[in-house]
Amino acid sequence: MPIPDQILSINSELPDGVKLVAVSKTKPISDIEIAYDCGQRIFGENKVQELQEKHPALPKDIQWHMIGHLQTNKVKYIAPFIGLIHGVDSLKLLTEINKQAVKNSRIIDVLLQFHIATESTKFGFSLTEAKEVLQSEEYTKLKNIRVVGVMGMASFSEDQTQVLGEFQDLKNIFEELKQLFFTNHTYFKEISMGMSGDYRLAIQKGSTLVRIGSSIFGERNYANV
Ligand SMILES: *Cc1c(COP(=O)(O)O)cnc(C)c1O
Repeated sequence: MPIPDQILSINSELPDGVKLVAVSKTKPISDIEIAYDCGQRIFGENKVQELQEKHPALPKDIQWHMIGHLQTNKVKYIAPFIGLIHGVDSLKLLTEINKQAVKNSRIIDVLLQFHIATESTKFGFSLTEAKEVLQSEEYTKLKNIRVVGVMGMASFSEDQTQVLGEFQDLKNIFEELKQLFFTNHTYFKEISMGMSGDYRLAIQKGSTLVRIGSSIFGERNYANV
């Protein structure tokens, strides 16, 4: 299906309060323009360099989301314009984002990434680690970041029960952190979970941001990047 039909069809499935992040990584500017012309405004990228190339070439009312792993030394390149950083998993990175936000006189919104899948990866907090960070004195000094929710990726599995369980885990983490640290903060409301293969399951478990790439733009060809 062409890009506009895909976007319309996915949007028609999303309940109120669930937003679509169109994941345009590796895709050309022309594809993003097509999606933009049918009303899509949130785009997700996972490489700083691609964000740096695409941001100046496209309309200013696009909200750019960084969904990939962000290296501390690259925060400065996206700090002037980034709308939301999904994958934050250390106090060091939070501190650097805050520093660059101060330099740009901005408040930058971030999500804490949690490791919910069975596959081993270096990325993502455990609940214990995240609590330590949120309780730390260093964290309370960071006035130019706003933790607006959580993010996670489920296992690449055909087993729906497994995937649903992992999304439930992230939902539970969200609820616990909300109660412990963000009771009076209405901005702490986002649960970023669900991709092309599993977004319907993620929505069942309370996702508010689905990150969908290949179902909109087609399979990615990594040989060209
Ligand atoms: C690439 C990517 C997506 C989108 O994946 P699709 O399967 O193409 O929808 C979502 N989230 C993250 C973190 C990604 O890196």
